[in-house]
Amino acid sequence: KPNAPVLDSYWMPFTANRQFKAAPRLLESAEGMHYTATDGRKILDGTAGLWCVNAGHGRRQIAAAVERQLTTLDYAPSFQMGHPIAFDFAERLAEIAPGGPDNRLDRVFFTGSGSESVDTALKIAIAHQRAIGQGTRTRLIGRERGYHGVGFGGISVGGLVNNRRVFPQLAGSDHLRHTHDLARNAYVKGQPEHGAELADDLERLVALHGAETIAACIVEPVAGSTGVLVPPKGYLDRLRAICDRHGILLIFDEVITGFGRLGAGFATDYFGVRPDIVTTAKGLTNGAIPMGAVFTSRAVHDALMHGPESQIELFHGYTYSGHPAACAAGLATLEIYRDEGLFTRAAELETAWHDTLHSLKGLPHIVDIRTIGLIAGIELASRDGAVGARAYDVFVDCFQKGLLIRVTGDIIAFSPPLIIEKEQIGEIVSVLGDALKRAL
Ligand code: PMP
Repeated sequence: KPNAPVLDSYWMPFTANRQFKAAPRLLESAEGMHYTATDGRKILDGTAGLWCVNAGHGRRQIAAAVERQLTTLDYAPSFQMGHPIAFDFAERLAEIAPGGPDNRLDRVFFTGSGSESVDTALKIAIAHQRAIGQGTRTRLIGRERGYHGVGFGGISVGGLVNNRRVFPQLAGSDHLRHTHDLARNAYVKGQPEHGAELADDLERLVALHGAETIAACIVEPVAGSTGVLVPPKGYLDRLRAICDRHGILLIFDEVITGFGRLGAGFATDYFGVRPDIVTTAKGLTNGAIPMGAVFTSRAVHDALMHGPESQIELFHGYTYSGHPAACAAGLATLEIYRDEGLFTRAAELETAWHDTLHSLKGLPHIVDIRTIGLIAGIELASRDGAVGARAYDVFVDCFQKGLLIRVTGDIIAFSPPLIIEKEQIGEIVSVLGDALKRAL
């Protein structure tokens, strides 16, 4: 089937797929664990799209809910009024919110994407500090090799150095360094035993800048997009303790780790460390409709909305905050997660996941394998110093052989839909293994 005509008029994101015209890869339909390409090939989805289709593709229940909603109420203003389904969805989210049964971060703010969730969380943190009389705290701390989307807030705290070089950053933002270096080249299943003290780098920044200037520290519990970096045991607890000591809010960016990816609802619950704010998107609606949500503790919410120096007059919100169709998709998605037990699925599969992925050890080019929940990062040696060149070739080879993987630099990442079966884990490893043997 010809697919050339659309290509000239379609402006591809310039970060993606530069060779697109020469070798188009077009996905036309999807069902369960598979995409179908325009040339009819079935492609096993090793990445849940972009870490988002946690319940698998083509879920009729979600499509039907969206259709029902769009023919009932397609859109309603999100300011000065509401619509019932946004409240219903927030209520349902509050019931499963991160933080455990007695201490949930059950105040919900809706956004349209992960990047919007990050910007919202950073603004909430600064506004909260002001509301509790800490108006000098405007500095935001992220991590080198963190990824928090592409808004100005997200790139300022993020670790994409090229983005930070080209665009101005939020004043005062700074970064923890080399956070996960100990975890590398160690072939660890789950969390590395050693390295908790890497979190002490936050003390360095506190000493450098003064605690009274720092509003919040944002980290991904498991850094995904920058190469699957798993926190050493005790690292996140230590970060929490340092934040507590200095009055710094802790934000977990759970855009990837939220909604069952690690075998619990959220990484917050998986690691048993409670931040003040959690950002989410992706799995919130199973990728079907763009949406994000920010969860905050009641303390953060109440100071902001009802405190003595309430910041309620601040304006923040999006035209599509709590969009009815997105809420419908989200409600149907949560039903599927519950009915199919998908929040614990990654835990059930974790041993098989660890063992099957780590069986690749020893194959050509591999220098590290990291697995946790249903995430894996397989790091390759660079070819002649060209970072990412070999991994990209492996990606193209796998795609041709019917497997979608994600490459980021020299690292191959997996995050399959949580409905994956053990045989399909085997298939991932066998297709990738063959591609690695062929790779130059
Ligand atoms: N934060 C994290 C941790 C992410 O992984 C991503 C997307 N990969 C984002 C934020 C940005 O999300 P979006 O692309 O939906 O804006």
